[in-house]
Amino acid sequence: MSFSLKILGCSSATPTTWAFPSAQVLNMEERFFLIDCGEGTQVQLRKHNIRFSKINHIFISHLHGDHFFGLVGLLSSFHLLDRKKDIHIYSPKGLKEAIITQFRITNTYLSYYIHFHELSTSEPQVIVDDKKLVVKAIPLKHRIETYGYLFQEKLKERKLNVEQLEKYKVEICDYRNIKLGKDYLTDSGQLIDNSDLTFDPPKALSYAYCSDTAFEPKLFEWVKHIDLLYHESTFLDDKITLAKKTGHSTAKQAAAVAKNAKVGKLILGHFSARYKNRTLFLDEALEVFDNVELSEEGRVFSIKN
Ligand SMILES: [Zn+2]
Ligand SMILES: [Zn+2]
Repeated sequence: MSFSLKILGCSSATPTTWAFPSAQVLNMEERFFLIDCGEGTQVQLRKHNIRFSKINHIFISHLHGDHFFGLVGLLSSFHLLDRKKDIHIYSPKGLKEAIITQFRITNTYLSYYIHFHELSTSEPQVIVDDKKLVVKAIPLKHRIETYGYLFQEKLKERKLNVEQLEKYKVEICDYRNIKLGKDYLTDSGQLIDNSDLTFDPPKALSYAYCSDTAFEPKLFEWVKHIDLLYHESTFLDDKITLAKKTGHSTAKQAAAVAKNAKVGKLILGHFSARYKNRTLFLDEALEVFDNVELSEEGRVFSIKN
């Protein structure tokens, strides 16, 4: 399994000629999950060769414009391209009304069906659960209702140790239970521990998107030990008071979350345009946590197991 995250936009507030507001695509073995959809997202999708038809799930963090103003345009383009497949959109309450109102006023009837999943939870909540993947919504601490999203691969079955299976003369019909972790009882009544018959499966991969949010210590537990964390860092340390007031984080606070949650890697994003030199975010975060990278439009972050 591999996760590949492509950043389409990572600036805060307004788009500029060199920076797009929040949007990114998580590719899990050719399943594409669009996370936030700021203005210009469909242009970015085209520029980075991501086929619209591959996107069946969209996750919107909150209803500030820099996170969803690109959505109605994208949904409209799906229709113009004669999309037939349903789409699932996860968001706080209010998005359905915002989208439907625009379609009503513009007399737009879609060629496909939208499932709006409007969230309301104060604890992490499973919102997608299929054979390979679990997605949880994570409540964040912002000025309006906001959710982060945690994508967790499901742990695969244990791998059979063929030599050991032959040694204990295990029948093929028992392989299924052994793959699921059960111990094995031989004909002579000897109980063989599962760990003697199997190898551990590859580690399940995980990625969390946390934007926008003020410093939130609950995340230490909620994103504990994940491989990859995208955490907003709108400001540097010089604006820590403003960060608190506006429900945002500094680079150091993002790094403190990564450190306390013991994540594999931290990606910083949602940069305020007031800072022309983005490497300052990296410098400050590295004082707290040592595996940090900056998001940048078009940049890809990959994790494998
Ligand atoms: Zn924002
Ligand atoms: Zn916001």
